[in-house]
Amino acid sequence: MYYRPKNLNDAIATLSKGELTIAAGCTDLFPTTQEDSLGSNILDISAIKSLRTVSIENGFRRIGSGTTWSDLENEELPNCYEMLKECSSQVGSRQIQNVGTIGGNLCNASPAADGVPCLLSLDASIELISINGKRILKLEDFIKGSRNTELKKNEILSAILIPQKAERGRSSFVKLGARKYLVISIAMVACKINLDGDIISDIAISIGSCSAVAKRLRELENILIGKSTNSDLIADIYDFQYQNHISPIDDIRGTNEYRLEVSRVLVKDSIIETINKFKIKG
Ligand SMILES: Cc1cc2nc3c(=O)[nH]c(=O)nc-3n(C[C@H](O)[C@H](O)[C@H](O)COP(=O)(O)OP(=O)(O)OC[C@H]3O[C@@H](n4cnc5c(N)ncnc54)[C@H](O)[C@@H]3O)c2cc1C
Repeated sequence: MYYRPKNLNDAIATLSKGELTIAAGCTDLFPTTQEDSLGSNILDISAIKSLRTVSIENGFRRIGSGTTWSDLENEELPNCYEMLKECSSQVGSRQIQNVGTIGGNLCNASPAADGVPCLLSLDASIELISINGKRILKLEDFIKGSRNTELKKNEILSAILIPQKAERGRSSFVKLGARKYLVISIAMVACKINLDGDIISDIAISIGSCSAVAKRLRELENILIGKSTNSDLIADIYDFQYQNHISPIDDIRGTNEYRLEVSRVLVKDSIIETINKFKIKG
């Protein structure tokens, strides 16, 4: 069976009646089947317009789960979303960006999902909806492991919620892959910084593809908060014991040792890039 409801209420009602695979842009679903068709009962949520809007509600920016990478790139957002826009423009290719959704990226829960570090650095929560109502979880609690989330069979991820109080400062997304386009990240870092004069008043650093789930480097953040941008930040970044905080895998794209080595370089690049943005007006 194939269902393509036009509103969220119909979607959750349909989902409550039987086992269905949710399909958004299908850019993760299709490659995993290795077949010409998906071969299961499908709930296609791509016609639900309310899932594809970005709005402000009760002190949160609400990004609908069906928002595509291209939508995000074109959306007018505060400066601190620079990392999410830079990430959006680097996902796959233009064709993937036009249909692939931020919600699909989170629900697929790949360790290499580029959206996750950006949203962790924005302190994101996610909203799940079912016929039983809504529940809101911190993104850190939603993704439990590689391809493993808190999503229940009767739930749809409806939105990503960013607290407006986290919408300060500038940000950068730095990704290392084997080539420029159509590349799965070897490692990526999303960094958001707020400055008070030349003092780092706030910093969020998240690293992906270097553990089963992307993670915030809170211990490094604590070392850097209060430091001047004129101090030797690179020494602090390079001295940090990354091996105690991340556990990169060995795979065809890079060894554990290589990923550990590049993580400090990517963290350094993302921080320097972000600090440099404060020197440019806009
Ligand atoms: C050639 C190619 C290149 C790629 N490059 C990148 C890249 O550079 N970086 C990157 O991060 N990813 C990349 N991807 C992976 C993919 O494009 C992204 O993860 C994309 O955002 C997935 O979104 P989607 O809408 O296509 O998800 P779908 O494939 O439709 O769904 C993915 C999973 O999430 C579930 N799902 C989707 N939406 C919801 C929802 N709202 N509620 C509940 N469950 C839901 C589905 O059931 C499925 O399990 C690439 C894929 C391809 C094919």
